[in-house]
Amino acid sequence: MERVSIAPDAVPVTGSAASTTAAPVRTCIGCRTRDAQSALLRLVAVREPGAPRAEVVADGARRLPGRGAWVHPSERCWNLALKKNAFSRALRSPGVGVPEMPSVIRSSAESG
Ligand SMILES: [Zn+2]
Repeated sequence: MERVSIAPDAVPVTGSAASTTAAPVRTCIGCRTRDAQSALLRLVAVREPGAPRAEVVADGARRLPGRGAWVHPSERCWNLALKKNAFSRALRSPGVGVPEMPSVIRSSAESG
């Protein structure tokens, strides 16, 4: 007798908008708390052609290639990450340039 293993994938995957799957979890480089990816802001190190060094860029659309780091879009977490120099470590990019706090963070911090 032959045994055929059947994968229990009864849920059809349509390729887009699979909202029932568990949300991926990432760790904030500021407060080191794990949170849903959707609650965090993605950061990547981008080096423009001819630029002396890479710069941290907020990747709001989560489309930029390369290694990403994640931070809560809050002033507190941004400053914590700055203080700990967490950007270069998380992005494996020593000496990466860290810009002013992205406007995404500033605007979301106004309420709190
Ligand atoms: Zn945080």
